[in-house]
Amino acid sequence: MADIIKLLPDHVANQIAAGEVVQRPASVVKELLENAIDAGATTIKLIVKDGGKSLVQVVDNGVGMSTTDARLSFERHATSKIQSAEDLFNLNTKGFRGEALASIAAIAHIELQTKTEDEEVGTAIHIEGSKINSQEVVVTPKGTSLAVKHLFFNIPARRNFLKSDSVELRHITDEFHRVALAHPSVALHYYNNGSELFNLPQSNFRQRIVNIFGKKANEKLVPVTEETQVVKVSGFICKPEFAKKSRGEQYFFVNNRFVKSHYLHHAVLAAFEGLIKQGMHPGYFLNLEVDPGSIDINIHPTKTEIKFDDEQTLYAILRSTIKHSLGQFNVAPTLDFEHNNNLETPYSYKNKSAVLPKVVVDSTFNPFKEEAKPKRSGNNSIPNYKKQNTPSWESLYVEGAPLERESTNFGNLSFESEVSTESIFEGESKDLDTAAITFQLKRKYIVTTIKSGMVVINQGRAHQRVLYERFLRSVTLNEALSQQLLFPIQLSFSASEIDILKEIKNNLITMGFVFGEISTDTVEINGVPPLVAEAEVLSIFDELLADCQQNIGADGFSQADVLSKALCKSLAVKTGDILDNLSQAALVNDLFACTESTVSPFNKPIYVTITENDIDKKFI
Ligand code: ADP
Ligand code: MG
Repeated sequence: MADIIKLLPDHVANQIAAGEVVQRPASVVKELLENAIDAGATTIKLIVKDGGKSLVQVVDNGVGMSTTDARLSFERHATSKIQSAEDLFNLNTKGFRGEALASIAAIAHIELQTKTEDEEVGTAIHIEGSKINSQEVVVTPKGTSLAVKHLFFNIPARRNFLKSDSVELRHITDEFHRVALAHPSVALHYYNNGSELFNLPQSNFRQRIVNIFGKKANEKLVPVTEETQVVKVSGFICKPEFAKKSRGEQYFFVNNRFVKSHYLHHAVLAAFEGLIKQGMHPGYFLNLEVDPGSIDINIHPTKTEIKFDDEQTLYAILRSTIKHSLGQFNVAPTLDFEHNNNLETPYSYKNKSAVLPKVVVDSTFNPFKEEAKPKRSGNNSIPNYKKQNTPSWESLYVEGAPLERESTNFGNLSFESEVSTESIFEGESKDLDTAAITFQLKRKYIVTTIKSGMVVINQGRAHQRVLYERFLRSVTLNEALSQQLLFPIQLSFSASEIDILKEIKNNLITMGFVFGEISTDTVEINGVPPLVAEAEVLSIFDELLADCQQNIGADGFSQADVLSKALCKSLAVKTGDILDNLSQAALVNDLFACTESTVSPFNKPIYVTITENDIDKKFI
């Protein structure tokens, strides 16, 4: 047989290598920013267009390249950063594989302009898919500008695989955050489609965090410092009460390089144990300095995974350092996350003096005497369990009804009858007094009777479904109700959160939110949907943004869906909330008026039915 093995031409090898290094525009951003940092730049500009699909450009004031270097930099394994394998264990630079530029040049159009300090003029090079189209002399300041245009122009499959511009932009912003946090002493500017997203001056680490995540970040931060022979730890953790539902702000930097490490992440979680609720995520910004010889960052082309020589020691140090910080800054003992809102004194009761409870005894009551109906004496003999501190909830179901009902009138209770109705419910009528046939079990379920037996409804999921359909409807029909706030609320957000807000603003308006001015780091809210209590606005927006960051796609429909889901999740009653009879009945009615009443918006069953037959079987 003839020889069949051939060496791949360079441009093909580069394209293959590009598959590993460049997944999306954000990967290009990472490589270019890191090259600029390695070149000793003190000011770096990042310019992107259309989520980086048409343009990613990085302009730096670093050392620049000579004409020969400029040309060589696009060759595979061309690097100025290491010379021998030993150098791999003494790395002080971000790059070292010499692959990035060669890979990017294989799958995009490149325009490079660069000049070193001591040259009079610089070099401009144009490349398309590994092919150098032109090389010229150019007048340009010291440093390098590298523009990457039409990414994946020659690999349509990869290009089609890219997400919407806004999703790609978010990935880019994530990379930008990582580099910016790892290098607070470098000034960074970031523009998207001509508008400035970030302008980060040279600063210290704390200021950098605040400049990126907004002023409100400052009060959350607790400093962490420790110096041992193995590792120097510095940075900040966020106070436990600011833990989030999404894994938002969690950053490890090892020798100024952003890394992902499940193991170290676990060490942080262990330190927070008992201080935050299950399912919540603490924020952290931690720098670890270790001997470059004790780590291996060469295990992945994008260099975000890392192997430590002595992980166990690192784990122990990290955990105890963070525990120490939490204790030292008095964060741990003041916490009471199990605090239950339901036990709080309603505001209107705060200044009232306590009154002796009146006990009304039915002196005629004789348990051995048969009675036709259960008899209750006097008013207020049944404690009123209506949730006092959530008027928003009441307003949903008790519109127009007096806040305090005089008594729960068991006399009106209609018991099982043979009368047949069209509904599955017994004795259903528009009159909410049918409330009496429901009751709440374990502050979690609403139990009600139906013709064939009974239904046990999960109150939280039922309410989620009701609200979800309501919000979707108001988005689709554009007929949202809104309650005007007496005083507009100012909320501060990070620039990227503001970005997302702008993106979802129109849909939020159709849900009943009314916006005032939106600046680069604050948003004015003038009105909210009827169910939203003023005090909850901030937390609702926090959750909303966290959910959107993860889930929102490009098209309007899925955006409305994500928003409706996020809102119904934060606004729905929860397990533990006490509902009075009226609200229980209203919830049941509303649930069964829904288009889909069996599963929650998150695809969980809402209720189970238990038939008389099922019950009979238990008695055999
Ligand atoms: P690596 O960073 O792994 O060395 P790259 O392909 O990213 O590989 O870059 C190749 C070489 O090009 C670098 O080693 C560096 O010498 C040079 N280079 C790339 N970007 C810049 C820049 N912005 N300023 C100066 N030199 C650069
Ligand atoms: Mg590089």
